[in-house]
Amino acid sequence: MDITYIRIRPATAHVATFECYTIDKLESGGLSIVDYKTSKELFTIDDLEEDLQLTLYQLAAEQTWQLPVEKLTLYHLRSNTACSCPPRDEARLEQAKQLVLEVAESIARQIFPAIENQYCPCDFPEHCPYYRHQYMVATPVPARQELLPGIAAVDAIERYASLHTEIKEWSSRRIMKPVKAGKKSFQTNVWD
Ligand code: SF4
Repeated sequence: MDITYIRIRPATAHVATFECYTIDKLESGGLSIVDYKTSKELFTIDDLEEDLQLTLYQLAAEQTWQLPVEKLTLYHLRSNTACSCPPRDEARLEQAKQLVLEVAESIARQIFPAIENQYCPCDFPEHCPYYRHQYMVATPVPARQELLPGIAAVDAIERYASLHTEIKEWSSRRIMKPVKAGKKSFQTNVWD
């Protein structure tokens, strides 16, 4: 059964979508949630108590059907083992709500700190601060420009700049004789 959304606060837009596998209505009128696990390792009673997914499923189911959850179960498929516990109390549910809100805020502000965990590396190691150094490719050294006939382009530019400076120096030294114009005299640079 799919739980299509969980709205943590009616006044906000924090909505999450879950897919969980079995939600049964018990004879007592309450709900029982079973989450199936395909992992190799068997889980412990601590795993069951700390499983955040089950807590969020409880929140979503109680919101959706307005019925109390009475039993939470993790089902280990490889060994056909079911492990059940009572539902989370109000304090745990409130903690989970706060966590969802914090994560939603971080997502909205585009803050996604990487946290190493037992599933690393994930499908995006090239973007992860812990793993991306393994995927860095050295930047190739740009090839030197091809030679023009007899001289490299970069050398030709340097030669041109040097000649240009020499020309300017020569031109500033070679001053034309004063030219009479009326009562005034002028000096003219031949290179101007
Ligand atoms: S490898 Fe993936 S899951 Fe692990 S810390 Fe980096 S981004 Fe997170």
